[in-house]
Amino acid sequence: MEKIVSLCKRRGFIYPGSEIYGGLSGTWDYGPLGVELKNSIKQLWWRMFVQERDDMCGVDAAILMNPEVWKASGHVDGFQDPLVECAKCKRRFRADQVDDPATGLGASKCPECGGKFGEVRQFNMMFKTQVGAAEGEGSISYLRPETAGGIFVNFKNIIDSFHPKLPFGIAQIGKAFRNEIAPRDFVFRSREFEQMEIEYFVRATEWERAFEEWRSSVHAFNEAVGISRSSVHELEVAPEDRAHYSKRTIDFEFDFPFGRKELCGLAYRTDFDLSAHAKASGADLTYLDEGSGEPRPGRGERFTPHVIEPSFGVDRTVLAILASAYTEDELGGEPRTYLKFNSAVAPVKAAVFPLLKNKPELVAKAREVYLMLKKQIPQVMWDDNGNIGKRYRRQDEIGTPYCITIDFDTLGETASLKDTVTIRNRDTGEQERVSVDSLVSRIA
Ligand code: ATP
Repeated sequence: MEKIVSLCKRRGFIYPGSEIYGGLSGTWDYGPLGVELKNSIKQLWWRMFVQERDDMCGVDAAILMNPEVWKASGHVDGFQDPLVECAKCKRRFRADQVDDPATGLGASKCPECGGKFGEVRQFNMMFKTQVGAAEGEGSISYLRPETAGGIFVNFKNIIDSFHPKLPFGIAQIGKAFRNEIAPRDFVFRSREFEQMEIEYFVRATEWERAFEEWRSSVHAFNEAVGISRSSVHELEVAPEDRAHYSKRTIDFEFDFPFGRKELCGLAYRTDFDLSAHAKASGADLTYLDEGSGEPRPGRGERFTPHVIEPSFGVDRTVLAILASAYTEDELGGEPRTYLKFNSAVAPVKAAVFPLLKNKPELVAKAREVYLMLKKQIPQVMWDDNGNIGKRYRRQDEIGTPYCITIDFDTLGETASLKDTVTIRNRDTGEQERVSVDSLVSRIA
């Protein structure tokens, strides 16, 4: 894990938040390569679950919401974790996550100083903030602890604007905030993170079928970003461990370097949310089964849809991809470290090099190839620093699938090879000579 964290910082994927001020626990800043990786994940998700389907639509709701939303959803009263404090060093821990290093079981003493723990008390994880200039209870709001709230409050807007037919879903990607008692394991447990969530509305009788469909879709997405099926394990969450709104939950756990932990989840939330928001807001959040054509059962009925919720964490997906891709091997008799990203998520899809930096004709031709590629594949990088071997190692380390070198043969030194380049495969280190014209289809 330390190796991944250090590679991420060194090569510009992820930095500790507010680092020059000593950091801020539970926050991380994504650097140039990290933001590309994150964007690829989000774009792939959006394409797969919104754009390629005709039963889905997207929203981007405000992070700050009327606090009544979080009262109705049960978060003000129930979104809490058990907290224990050491009487001696005053350090705080999440009671269900602090283990005795000797036994691996729940600790009864502080693992840092051996001091006695006080009583377990409940700690609400929502960040409170004040909206507007007037201070007081009336101006309190919260940073949203999950994106789902923004979807439920827009249910009526979507129905009124688009009249979708059941089943249909609303998707959202955005930041969520939780004042985690003990942020840890790099971006796995942070206080500010990003979620990709879907609320998929169904008739009560159809929830099981929809649940199974989304169960396969969760795996399909994970595989599409390069997380192998064999490293993801389903955990059927026991009734006593499920969230208050859920009648069935599956946690999809990944073998992270620090253990098997939740990567994403799938829950059947019944009609809990729409009913609770309808009651608290007074808005009509029912669905009218209008339909047309032949009479059929259910036509003309008004009811509250039930909901299936697939919920993905962008940051945990980033970490699972990094952990899956991190590889150490030997190439040409030398040890190397590389990230075996698949092309869909690689932050840099290809790097273009002139063989020599001090030969203007090579540089000019290489720039021409680079600009031609960049027009069609924006995530292409120029690199002319150091010798070719060093450039390969640098690109391997950031997971670039292909390196393209422009040499004297490209210029026509060997007439038959004019306008060809070498393309090197990251995983095998093998090089092939191909025409410049074929590059886009090779890389894309
Ligand atoms: P955990 O049990 O690990 O705290 P959770 O069950 O509370 O997670 P959910 O409420 O189901 O998580 O949130 C949905 C998804 O959001 C999770 O599967 C995860 O990918 C992501 N997520 C939740 N909390 C965090 C966090 N503190 N940091 C990063 N991602 C998170």
